[in-house]
Amino acid sequence: MRKSVVIRFTMLVLCCGGMWLAFTQAPQPTKLDVVKLTDDLYVIHNHYVPGNTTVLITNEGVVLVDDKFPQDANNIVAEVKKLSTQPIKYVINTHHHGDHTGGNPRLQQLGAQIISTEEARQNMVDGKQPGLTNVTFEHHATVYLGGKKAELYHWGRAHTNGDLVVLFPAQRVLAAGDMFTNGDDVPELIDYSGGGSGKEWTSTLDSALKLDFDRVVPGHGPVTNKQQMQKYRQSTLDLRNRVHEMIVAKKTKADVEKMLRTEFHFADLHIARSLDGLLVEMQ
Ligand SMILES: [Zn+2]
Repeated sequence: MRKSVVIRFTMLVLCCGGMWLAFTQAPQPTKLDVVKLTDDLYVIHNHYVPGNTTVLITNEGVVLVDDKFPQDANNIVAEVKKLSTQPIKYVINTHHHGDHTGGNPRLQQLGAQIISTEEARQNMVDGKQPGLTNVTFEHHATVYLGGKKAELYHWGRAHTNGDLVVLFPAQRVLAAGDMFTNGDDVPELIDYSGGGSGKEWTSTLDSALKLDFDRVVPGHGPVTNKQQMQKYRQSTLDLRNRVHEMIVAKKTKADVEKMLRTEFHFADLHIARSLDGLLVEMQ
């Protein structure tokens, strides 16, 4: 398959398809690879589905960012055990989608506290998801553990209304969640039903890009750098401008849909989830 086709399929599965897969089909766990970023920071990675898990090792416990699907939880725990004898104390959910929060119940059983934005937690409540977060915050929070820290930021809407990013300042690494996915240059799925916004996505990314970091762990895809995230930010603007100019030119909904499919490679799911919202937002 062409890369874009793979990504298209992937994105189809991961955002709302992910929840469906997670709770109705019980797919097999994905094979996980561990990528070392620094002596104390790792990514448990797999090929696009489910999302990336970032691992901070300290001598007082382990911090995770995102925990994939339920069926991946035990494998995550096994991989972490190879890196540290310390328990997983905190899990930060970048947003509520099931491919980033599915491991919550298992990790809570093992004693972890789950942290998210208040909006992400509310989306989990609305979606009747198990493993609700234990700790929420509004704009900014910091996790201090074993002399290390993870800084959490929530600025506004993007992929959902509850997206947060995690900065590891000493390691100069940002875990971006699905505000930035690496492998395509378009904000693929704007989850309007989860409070997402194609319009605000750009400014939310701008806030994230003001942070001081070199490397980025995207929500999905290989670890990359700040320049790639900057490029992605531009594509969110291109999408906005293109939809807006078509609305101003009084193009039909069908015309906009065709443009999104041809120029931005939207698949059926993305059209279904994002088109109506875009038409309202980009007027
Ligand atoms: Zn997502």
